[in-house]
Amino acid sequence: MSEPFGIGRHAGRGPAPFESCICCFKGDTPTGMLLVGEAEWVMGAMMAMGVPLEEAQGTVEYMARTQYGCLPGHVPEIDMECALRVCADCAGKAGLQVAKLPQMWRYPQPEHLRLPEGGE
Ligand SMILES: [Zn+2]
Repeated sequence: MSEPFGIGRHAGRGPAPFESCICCFKGDTPTGMLLVGEAEWVMGAMMAMGVPLEEAQGTVEYMARTQYGCLPGHVPEIDMECALRVCADCAGKAGLQVAKLPQMWRYPQPEHLRLPEGGE
């Protein structure tokens, strides 16, 4: 299991506290979730929890590069597994749940939210 994202890298909002929630930057957040799905869906889920578009995009691209070896600006064709450190409050905004790390609440992308084949 890879380390949940949200440690020390927050584009544009300055240095983040240690082990902070990726959405609100609250430090010492002991909870997380694992989003499993298309890059676009992962971004949408992050934005539903209050992450600005640019940061959601940056995070997904960062993971695509570091975990999947994608070229900059590209995302994998397969489902991504994005481990995120998120507090219960932010997850709750999107109606999602978290689990205490190293457990992570697993959210697979629902079938009906998949992009149509070949659609871009
Ligand atoms: Zn939070």
